[in-house]
Amino acid sequence: MDVIRQLPDHVANQIAAGEVVQRPASVVKELLENAVDAGAKDIQLIVKDAGKTHIQVIDNGVGMSQTDVRMAFERHATSKIRDAADLFQLTTKGFRGEALASIAAVAHVRCLTRKNDEAAAHSLHIEGGKVVDFGQEAHPVGTSIEVKNLFYNIPARRQFLKSDSVELNHITDEFQRVALAHTDVAFRFYHNNTMLFHLHPGSLKQRIIGIFGKKIDDKLVPVDETTEHVRFTGFTGKPDAAKKRRGEQFFFVNNRFIRYQKMHYAVMRAYEDLLPSGTYPPYFIFIDVNPATIDVNIHPTKTEIQFNDENMIFSVLASAVKHSLGKHNVAPSLDFELGQAFTLPSMPKEVIPQQPTIKVNKDYNPFSNARPASGSPSMAASFTGRERDKGIDGWESLMIPDEQVPEAKQANLWQEEQEESSEGTYVLANKFIVQLQSDGIQLIHPRRAHERILYESLMKTMHASTAPSQQLLFPQSVHLSLAERQQLEPWLPVLVSVGFDVDIDEDNHVQFFGLPVHISESSIPNIVEELLRDISESDHIDELRFQRSLIKNLAKNGALRSVAGLSKADLQSLVRDLLRCEEPQLSLHGKPIMHNLRIDELEKIFH
Ligand code: ADP
Ligand code: MG
Repeated sequence: MDVIRQLPDHVANQIAAGEVVQRPASVVKELLENAVDAGAKDIQLIVKDAGKTHIQVIDNGVGMSQTDVRMAFERHATSKIRDAADLFQLTTKGFRGEALASIAAVAHVRCLTRKNDEAAAHSLHIEGGKVVDFGQEAHPVGTSIEVKNLFYNIPARRQFLKSDSVELNHITDEFQRVALAHTDVAFRFYHNNTMLFHLHPGSLKQRIIGIFGKKIDDKLVPVDETTEHVRFTGFTGKPDAAKKRRGEQFFFVNNRFIRYQKMHYAVMRAYEDLLPSGTYPPYFIFIDVNPATIDVNIHPTKTEIQFNDENMIFSVLASAVKHSLGKHNVAPSLDFELGQAFTLPSMPKEVIPQQPTIKVNKDYNPFSNARPASGSPSMAASFTGRERDKGIDGWESLMIPDEQVPEAKQANLWQEEQEESSEGTYVLANKFIVQLQSDGIQLIHPRRAHERILYESLMKTMHASTAPSQQLLFPQSVHLSLAERQQLEPWLPVLVSVGFDVDIDEDNHVQFFGLPVHISESSIPNIVEELLRDISESDHIDELRFQRSLIKNLAKNGALRSVAGLSKADLQSLVRDLLRCEEPQLSLHGKPIMHNLRIDELEKIFH
């Protein structure tokens, strides 16, 4: 008996759809690209429930004739190439003729399309790949394609979709890629009736600012390098624009967004030592090459590409970026003509550098409930971020109110402090606190210790619902893009619960009027940045998780960078605060905070 059978069309289409349509963002990408290919100058993207229920793209492009619109939803039906040779002369985004057929196989689709020489629009309803209605309707010139109930007939796919915030992020990514590549086209993007982006036609720089906000304006330097075979244009970020969050790195090859890890490394090479590790500069790099030297046909979603001579491309790219950074004085460059004027001032030999001194209130008893005498900066709440920025002025980390420490423990600790002279606390290589004790040596990692202390204390204040806040003299603000605002806004109450006094104004500035104690103004941009990253990276974020990562983030940003300049008393209160923590041994990232070497262990070493 013969066993091989040709699959019915709708099954074959569903299988093909699996490749093209993985999630709502894939539909968005295909529809936007079709609109661009149709020569549209005004494109609207309307999405509901992160695309799970509704995706619509309305364009003012050339539209389709009656026959074409029926053909458009057939597999391998395309107006863009005629034969294989055309693949090497591509000027359009699409060329496979698979997208509409695939989308129609897994959703309810309604298409309205009108050419400028026709009086009415053709309307077509398709469900699960079958035409259910075909007619005419009034509609402006151009095309509107509405995709509803994606994967309604493939429950497994539907279940596989991530939370709305993750799916919306993917959609936003696709939208940004198309919008960046077509700065002459106006775009509007609505999600659940809120406008997330409104982009006017303009220059690339204007488009980048339209998407990422004004804050990126002075952080970019232009890239422009032409060789015989390739041209690089666009912008790359100054080193101080680098972020831990990825998402602002874009390569476009012949105006098509491309994901290319090796090309990313080439850019990173250009930054060499200019960036803190684990951070990425934004870049928007457009690469123009002869279409005959690339092959875009190697991946169904077309974000991968092959160059004939990739090593040449990489090295020109690295040097183009380096060149831009150097030209705009953001990378140190050697210039011998400058002569002596720019050498570092050298210190006269006989002057011995002085250790900076700090003032400490010796009478301060951290366990007394009485407020210290005037002028002594002792309680955490009086310690503002600004002071921290200037330098350490007394160790102030007793955020855990004394009442919470049992009497006996207090007495005990106090006694230990009095015995200080016979034992002692030291700093080793600016990196470790070393405590000599009667029964051995205790080594402590100060930064991890401080993070742990801040974390536990912030957790407590949050549950106590009276988080202390230090008001800022001058409110600080961070500009957000519309999309970032959407992400952050729902979480403002949680920020308030840990001591932020914060609001978002109508220009999308997050305004900070007050901060939790221990958080300095200078870490605000970092904190916002990390929060946005947490929100966009986690698949499902609930309140508890958000609180926890917020507090981790605050502890990290509020913690000491160095122990240089801390007095002995400061160090001792740090150690005491650590020992009062519920988990003094482990850092927030599961690494050790302290290590004890008992005398008997030392004896073994010297055995
Ligand atoms: P491809 O883009 O690879 O050609 P698609 O399945 O995405 O394949 O689209 C099939 C055809 O339908 C296109 O080649 C084009 O002729 C037509 N088409 C799709 N979308 C539009 C649109 N928004 N405006 C005009 N024509 C369109
Ligand atoms: Mg297409």
